[in-house]
Amino acid sequence: MIAPTGDTETPRYRVAVRALCEFTARSGDLDLRFTPAPTAQQGIAGHQVVAARRGEHYEHEVALEGRYGALIVRGRADGYDPTLGRLEEIKTHRGDVDAMPANQRALHWAQAKVYAALLCRERGLERVEVALVYFDIEQQRETVLAETMDRPALDVFFTEQCERFIDWAEQEMTHVATRSQRLEQLSFPHADFRPGQRSLAESVYKAISTRRDLMLQAPTGIGKTLGTLFPALKAMPAQQLDRVFFLTARTTGRRLALEALTTLGLADSGKENDSGVRTLELIARERACEHPELACHGDSCPLASGFYDRLFDARQAAVQQGFLDHDSLRRVARAHRVCPYYLGQEMAHWCDVVIGDVNYWFDTSAMLYALAQQHQWRVSLLIDEAHNLVERGRGMYGAEFDQGRFAAARRDAPAALKRPMDRVWRQWKALLREHDGDYVCLEAPPRKLFNALSQFVTALGDWMVDSPVALESALLEAWFDAMQIARIAELAAEIDDSHYLFDIERRGRNATLSLRNVVPAPLLAPRFRAAHAAIVFSATLSPGHYYRDQLGLGSATPWLEMTSPFTACQLEVHLDDHVSTRYRDRGASLSPVAKLMADQFRQRPGNYLAFFSSFDYLEQVSNALAGHAPDVPQWSQARRMSESERDAFLARFTQGGKGIGFAVLGGIFGEGIDLPGERLIGAFIATLGLSQFNPVNEQMKARMETLFGDGYRYAYLYPGVTRVVQAAGRVIRSPEDRGVVHLIDDRFRRRDIQALLPGWWALPPRG
Ligand code: SF4
Repeated sequence: MIAPTGDTETPRYRVAVRALCEFTARSGDLDLRFTPAPTAQQGIAGHQVVAARRGEHYEHEVALEGRYGALIVRGRADGYDPTLGRLEEIKTHRGDVDAMPANQRALHWAQAKVYAALLCRERGLERVEVALVYFDIEQQRETVLAETMDRPALDVFFTEQCERFIDWAEQEMTHVATRSQRLEQLSFPHADFRPGQRSLAESVYKAISTRRDLMLQAPTGIGKTLGTLFPALKAMPAQQLDRVFFLTARTTGRRLALEALTTLGLADSGKENDSGVRTLELIARERACEHPELACHGDSCPLASGFYDRLFDARQAAVQQGFLDHDSLRRVARAHRVCPYYLGQEMAHWCDVVIGDVNYWFDTSAMLYALAQQHQWRVSLLIDEAHNLVERGRGMYGAEFDQGRFAAARRDAPAALKRPMDRVWRQWKALLREHDGDYVCLEAPPRKLFNALSQFVTALGDWMVDSPVALESALLEAWFDAMQIARIAELAAEIDDSHYLFDIERRGRNATLSLRNVVPAPLLAPRFRAAHAAIVFSATLSPGHYYRDQLGLGSATPWLEMTSPFTACQLEVHLDDHVSTRYRDRGASLSPVAKLMADQFRQRPGNYLAFFSSFDYLEQVSNALAGHAPDVPQWSQARRMSESERDAFLARFTQGGKGIGFAVLGGIFGEGIDLPGERLIGAFIATLGLSQFNPVNEQMKARMETLFGDGYRYAYLYPGVTRVVQAAGRVIRSPEDRGVVHLIDDRFRRRDIQALLPGWWALPPRG
């Protein structure tokens, strides 16, 4: 947001009209009741409808700019009608416009008035009619609030907003200069790079410096987090990057990134941070919320009441803190009596490095992506454990209508929602009547049901405005489901339909409609393009073409594999190909698998993890082992585990401990856990990791075949072997570790499968 200038006055701070007003013209309560807002696409369409109604003389998207001291304020006014002398600020909405909180309306007026002031200055106008045009996207109806204003009054208003912002802008300019200086001097914090780490860091630096995306397969132990963050930060000043976003699918990845920043001397939790770099950890609302039983508005939650009145001081304290991990941010929020979650959202505007989940950039309503668009930031993305982005992408761009959940919400719904919910129910029942069978893949999306769900979303939004209490949980879930369906249905219609499955599954008396994303690439690709450079890395990113195709990275995106710091002598790999773990052979496999586990344990007692394709199979082998070798201690992953139960499972892996932990491949213990040294000395992997053979996966396979001509590998094999390699990767965590892996299935002998295993493993010679 700092603009280089050609004149002698330096430097200048560029700020968008919207950002300026959000800073200066918000007061009162945080209030999320006037939601949901229309989607971005609906907003654009709404603006176009209004503009089209105005006639040819109407100017839309009028670029305006003005200066005040060091500030350059600019933006695009939605429309100007020169014949009427009327400047319009158009806001699309759903639901009752009168229900909009007064402070939101005041913010809209502020934006309109700043645009009007800039217009008057630029065109030499003495007065202008300033109009807020609220356009209801469902009724296609306009509500216009208009007022004629003189130039002097508008000028005063503009000056007031700039005055309120200028100190902050100057602070920001100083901060960016300090940050650049600090990062230019930043040196690698250790005497030496780990093997492979220097080359990793150089590749990242080069990619960012040449504005290219990069895919990196880098094994565990190489120091990926530090090896990517360090060069990304070093590249920041020269590339004039505004932000570095470190995004990960797992909490452990966030923790490692925070630790890497501490190692770099750029963070110190608990103290004020003068490192020159501001860091923010973003966490989910469920974890950050202080009052989960309340709703996010001032009538309900004390931390939402007066939020904007206290935000100024809280924000200032937060930037002084500088290092805003979860605990530090919470401390600041408590001290200023504001909601920590929404303070975090605010600080995302002002922090240089943001660490958070991948959804903050890739989701349908991704906050960091929206901010980058709004502020025109240059952003480097570091995507950790990127193999997860395929499945996560499918999840973000998928939706589900669950009959049971909706029925539960409908049963106790308030009378005002009866009609819209009945409408949904009728459409749903009609759809079920048309489609018989336990599993049906629809030939076309069920638009009538989608429309009914959209109407329900609006009706519920209207009703909430008058309700000071939090929504009852079943209704809240039904509302979220319906909103997500409306969003995804719209997105699916925009991209090629072949990337989606619309299917109905019946289980007993219940049925579910799924909007299933098959390939997230067309939806992820624009997000990658929006970044200055994206570094996509993981220990398992093979084969490159599969991940390129799934993630939407361009075909020219380089794929590099970093040399492993580990050697073959560290890991003994056994191919137990006398066993088949195919579903039909499971019964026969129990005894041989139990025997080989017991033999290995007796030969080298210690801690092992054993992975299976399902809980059923896990339990069967666990029983077989208990019968065959009751002396071998064992413990198992349960179907649903609380955080403390997970910790207890892992706590049994002590230094010098002995026993076998049973887990499901692809589950919570299959990746992202770190059990170095003697805490884990071996793994048994009794599965090829293939997804279950079922109608859904068969449909996915058929769709992959159509799209890529390689259905089996894309739908089953590649994701399966990725899970195997991730699980096996738990054993060797450092150059000092020694361990053993048993790959239990005759298919591990296949050449095409062995080609997907890490190159540094020494596989036994083929028989
Ligand atoms: S504390 Fe919880 S309920 Fe209150 S505003 Fe924050 S997120 Fe909403």
